[in-house]
Amino acid sequence: MEKKYNPNEYNNATKCEVCGNLTFSDDYGNTDKCPHCGWKSNSDSEFYEECYGISYPLLVPLSRAREQYKAGQKFKATLEDFINGLNFYAEMLFWHNGKVYEVFRRNGGVVFSSKDNEQGFTTINEFRDKANINGRLLKDIWDEVVHPCFMYCGGEHDYDFPPED
Ligand SMILES: [Zn+2]
Repeated sequence: MEKKYNPNEYNNATKCEVCGNLTFSDDYGNTDKCPHCGWKSNSDSEFYEECYGISYPLLVPLSRAREQYKAGQKFKATLEDFINGLNFYAEMLFWHNGKVYEVFRRNGGVVFSSKDNEQGFTTINEFRDKANINGRLLKDIWDEVVHPCFMYCGGEHDYDFPPED
């Protein structure tokens, strides 16, 4: 049987917008994970950064991703990027010391929760300034945070470990 053409397959050679190397996109401009730097694009990275301060699906805005790539760092959203993501998408995740934390908006405020703790904030700014893990402010320990990202659909144990970067 002949294989049917699938526009969602990554059939098109293109230049990675972060590292400039060869990567592949589907017919809608979404790129597969860049084999060189790991970047993924939805083809509108500049627009998403300008309008929302993020990229999709990786969250890190394009200009910051380019800086991190140049500095030889892994892509990682700053707390500011993460908050932009929270404004954009409403449900976010990160890991700290092997534990997953969920951050989501509820009734105009923000809920910050893990398996054994839940903190509520009336505004996103209050979350940014006061969210803490065992009394240590999140904004002060962001360097220790691993894989801040948009929440993705998964079963309970799919969040036990951060996904591969
Ligand atoms: Zn790349």
